[in-house]
Amino acid sequence: MTGFSTRAIHAGQEPDPATGAVITPIVASSTFAQDGVGNMRSGYEYSRSANPTRTALEECLAALEGGSRGFAFASGLAAEDTLIRSIAKPGAHLVLPHDAYGGSFRLFAQVYEPWGLRTDPVDLTDLAAVEAAIRPGETVAVWVETPTNPLLSVADIAAIAEIAHSLGALVIVDNTFASPYLQQPLALGADVVMHSTTKYCGGHSDVVGGALVVADPALAERVQFHQNALGAVAGPFDAWLVLRGLKTLAVRMERHSDNAERVAGFLAQHSRVSEVFYPGLESHAQFDVAKRQMLRFGGMVSFRVRDGEQAAVDVCGRTKVFTLAESLGGVESLVEHPGRMTHASVAGTALEVPSDLIRLSVGLEDVADLIADLDQALSG
Ligand SMILES: *Cc1c(COP(=O)(O)O)cnc(C)c1O
Repeated sequence: MTGFSTRAIHAGQEPDPATGAVITPIVASSTFAQDGVGNMRSGYEYSRSANPTRTALEECLAALEGGSRGFAFASGLAAEDTLIRSIAKPGAHLVLPHDAYGGSFRLFAQVYEPWGLRTDPVDLTDLAAVEAAIRPGETVAVWVETPTNPLLSVADIAAIAEIAHSLGALVIVDNTFASPYLQQPLALGADVVMHSTTKYCGGHSDVVGGALVVADPALAERVQFHQNALGAVAGPFDAWLVLRGLKTLAVRMERHSDNAERVAGFLAQHSRVSEVFYPGLESHAQFDVAKRQMLRFGGMVSFRVRDGEQAAVDVCGRTKVFTLAESLGGVESLVEHPGRMTHASVAGTALEVPSDLIRLSVGLEDVADLIADLDQALSG
């Protein structure tokens, strides 16, 4: 197999046979002419079922994650919903991370629970707890998110896959924070990888999208059926934007990691900061696992300030280079207060985050400017 960036730039993206266009065209057509009833020219019939621009993205994603098939959706949550309906029916049980992304937790707790799915949030860094939570014959999957949002805890994918498979459960990894460049869950034994391509895959804060990459061809067929039956697909322009983003994923993730490592080091020695969460710090509780399963440590850094919630809110309001906004993974740096913003929906649940926590999406600006900005915001 060719290298990562070669696949990112070329997989699924041969020059257009009709025109020679080097860049995959945006095929906006909803429908495709047939040469006689049921006789399709190149396999395309209707763009919910399949669309050439989306196919290019799906082939590229499969090549980057090393799976048999990729699938592109209208959002990360649409990808999750399609996957869960492909593998579970009312009565089924899933094991979730106790610090899952708030939107994933909301989907499970407020949509699937009333619909008859049962879930148990567990600390995925505690392998004995993972094993104890799996109910053989009932648990269809362990949902893994690593590193987690916003506390950057790291789960051991290979160890969880071994436990889950021995008890008959699938392993799904939300690989949004690491991206396929930094972490390859299928190679570590996972069955399905999920992405919010809104984040690093797209990489420019200009598209909302989601993806699944499936290892087993039989499971991929079930997912394909559900993708078409549920219809929450990525539109051609959105698919094109994500495909463009993927071409530069490797260089972006290298620079995100460079900058975030420097920012995390700066915060770790700052007198107004009480705790820094970054998998690349030796002080991180799962540093050894992170070092083993990630190429580098990515662009997300969270930290707690010493003087409580209001101090955290004030720091978020004082940054000038870091923009105060939700989301992450774009070229520009963002700051947010998870307790009141991205994770407000989990207040009062097992997933509540510390009120003095600040989350940074460290972008690709000059790192000296990022550090100077945080320095002035912390000392204001
Ligand atoms: C954003 C995000 C999602 C949800 O994706 P959307 O594209 O917003 O639907 C899921 N998991 C993680 C880790 C995320 O950051």
